[in-house]
Amino acid sequence: MEQNTNQPQAEIESFTLDHDAVKAPYVRLIDTTKGPKGDIISNFDVRLTQPNEEFIDTASLHTLEHLLAKYLRPQIEGYIDCSPYGCRTGFHLLVWNELSSQDAAKALKQALEQTLKTSWDEVPGTKRKECGNYKDHSLEGAKRWAAKILEQGISADAFHHIPV
Ligand SMILES: [Zn+2]
Repeated sequence: MEQNTNQPQAEIESFTLDHDAVKAPYVRLIDTTKGPKGDIISNFDVRLTQPNEEFIDTASLHTLEHLLAKYLRPQIEGYIDCSPYGCRTGFHLLVWNELSSQDAAKALKQALEQTLKTSWDEVPGTKRKECGNYKDHSLEGAKRWAAKILEQGISADAFHHIPV
């Protein structure tokens, strides 16, 4: 892979994070990166389950992905994307400009509360033409996880669990 000489100098700590030290569920600001034209992107670690102890089944995670796209976008100005981790313990959230972990955690909390009230026909992009694995969804599972995460509370501090 060619080296990107425009790569901004940001502290990249996602892979140096001690996954045993964190206390999920939490939202953590990984870094803010300034692009060559001065645009800023904030990168968040949205950890829904405790690493190496619990992970979300793919159908539930997939439906949560579709619902977070629907419910987080209108709440977060400059929302870019929220995509699941391969380890299935959470999501990466990317946002234009700066946003506090506190505000991101509050937006997530509201999105999960909305998830609990969602009916199947309100889940976006579940038709064959709209999704890469349209049969692999579980709204029931997404709601179960949302309820569990809300009950545990979402912290804006990855190492001290203080629910927002
Ligand atoms: Zn999909």
